[in-house]
Amino acid sequence: MTSVRDNVDPAEVAKFDALASRWWDPAGEFRPLHEINPLRLDWIRRHVTLSDAKIVDIGCGGGILTEAMAAANASVTGIDMAEAPLAVARLHQHESNAQIDYRQATAEELAASEAGTYDIVTCLEMLEHVPDPASVVQSCAELVKPGGHIFFSTINRNPKSFMFAIIGAEYVLRLLPAGTHEYEKFIRPSELEEWSRHAGLELKASIGMHYNPLNKAYTLGDGLDVNYLLYFQRPADE
Ligand code: SAH
Repeated sequence: MTSVRDNVDPAEVAKFDALASRWWDPAGEFRPLHEINPLRLDWIRRHVTLSDAKIVDIGCGGGILTEAMAAANASVTGIDMAEAPLAVARLHQHESNAQIDYRQATAEELAASEAGTYDIVTCLEMLEHVPDPASVVQSCAELVKPGGHIFFSTINRNPKSFMFAIIGAEYVLRLLPAGTHEYEKFIRPSELEEWSRHAGLELKASIGMHYNPLNKAYTLGDGLDVNYLLYFQRPADE
């Protein structure tokens, strides 16, 4: 029987466990997450109000987005399957005076016990690290209330994203450690949209995330060909 804990790649979780102590170093291996965080937070806030919202952050890691949402007065749960990043996240929230409920769980597991209880689900930079991303999408759809909001971000799969997200980011510019991403696990927006539609979600907005190596800055804008975010809503009950 498949269990709600099956959708985990131990090698992926081990990668994040090994780097966990570096999570909050703004110049370390997770620098890109620190740099994109204000942009993705802004984009989320363009679509939803975080204050007083009940949110779950799926694959929260050390809690970079999780803490930012808690700082915006949301009530936030963060789940991840890697123990060390969760330990770092739990320690770091004390420094930030945040109150986040961090738990070691899969999306599938949480959906089995807390379906329909969240206003907002965020699942950023995580789907490309799991064996069955469609199952995570399904669980996210189950976790939100009718009328609730879901944000995904991941990396597209095409020759340009191979050049930019793997060769460029990991080997030439060294923005990320080599081996962070596997090309085969990248996800086309059409695939993510199809899984989401199948889970009953409606696509509301999309945006690309672009890196300019000349000024070393990230920006949001048209073009989903490398990094991108999609925003979905679960229809309200009739
Ligand atoms: N969402 C965070 C961290 C992204 S790194 C951010 O964008 O800032 C990807 C995270 O997904 C890692 O912390 C990794 O441990 C986690 N992860 C990988 N597989 C997972 C799974 N099956 N369930 C939950 N978390 C998982």
